Amino acid sequence: MDISLVIPLYNEEESLPELHDWIVRVMVAHHFSYEIIFVDDGSKDGSWEVIKKLQAKNPCVKAVKFRRNYGKSAGLNVGFENTQGDVVITMDADLQDSPDEIPELVKMIREEGYDIVSGWKKKRYDPITKTIPTKLYNYVTSKMSGVKLHDMNCGLKAYRSEVVKNIEVYGEMHRYIPVIAKWAGFTKIGEKVVQHQARKYGVTKFGLSRFIYGPLDLFSIMFMGKFGKRPMHFFGVIGTFIFFSGLVLLAWLSMDKLLYNTVGIANRPAFYLGILMVIVGVQLFIAGFLGELISRSASERNTYKIEGEI
Ligand code: UDP
Ligand code: MG
Repeated sequence: MDISLVIPLYNEEESLPELHDWIVRVMVAHHFSYEIIFVDDGSKDGSWEVIKKLQAKNPCVKAVKFRRNYGKSAGLNVGFENTQGDVVITMDADLQDSPDEIPELVKMIREEGYDIVSGWKKKRYDPITKTIPTKLYNYVTSKMSGVKLHDMNCGLKAYRSEVVKNIEVYGEMHRYIPVIAKWAGFTKIGEKVVQHQARKYGVTKFGLSRFIYGPLDLFSIMFMGKFGKRPMHFFGVIGTFIFFSGLVLLAWLSMDKLLYNTVGIANRPAFYLGILMVIVGVQLFIAGFLGELISRSASERNTYKIEGEI
């Protein structure tokens, strides 16, 4: 099969028929064999009934429905597990992403050898409260992760099948799939400017909370990617540095007291700083040891991404 489309959705009943028909038009025009995998993330409106109707008239439609709302990442993850196509396309269900972009995205994966091609909504049709923080967020993410994309969280993306079979998306991590893929060893990541539209039906499902959880998730991903399998290297280095700095400070104060008989070292700021640094240093060390214990007993401690074997 050429293409699997993974479409997570939550309360999008009005958009679905239009989206479906549009996708089918594009697929037929380009002679692609395809499947559309709708993942209904616990919708409370009539989305599931609409999907059932679409499925009845088009056998290429497949669907999974969650019993409750788990979030977009969960939807994508389950969709990814079920794909059979060589190229996997993800897109939002709200008609903000255009299916007309798909053939070009597929071409970039197939002919230009990209692992991932991410859409870039260069001209966005979203409220300003979203577009400005998003710019900042993209800048920080690309600086921190080394993945150079202008629009990390674009819902419209294309993947080589191996990529989606080798990554796991959970929590709110759908914002960072290219970063996750990079840590899994898929480094050929490109982008393509795509058309964007204002939301036609329904409302956005993400509020301001995205700006609090988003950055925290980025820290988690960066940490897991770099130190997930060796936490002591992170905590140990910082812990040692802080511990010994504190020790030097206290040694210096002690010398002062012993050699020069300075009175009252206990009311000097360096005294408290020294004690604090020694304690914090030890605590970081302990965090490192605990991390090692946890990663040693993790079932995937010896799981690696294998690219080939002969
Ligand atoms: N979505 C989902 N589960 C959720 C929230 C959103 O599956 O808990 C889907 C939603 O239906 C849409 C896509 O994720 O297909 C993107 O959501 P939305 O359009 O609300 O986000 P925005 O475009 O405002 O960033
Ligand atoms: Mg949207």
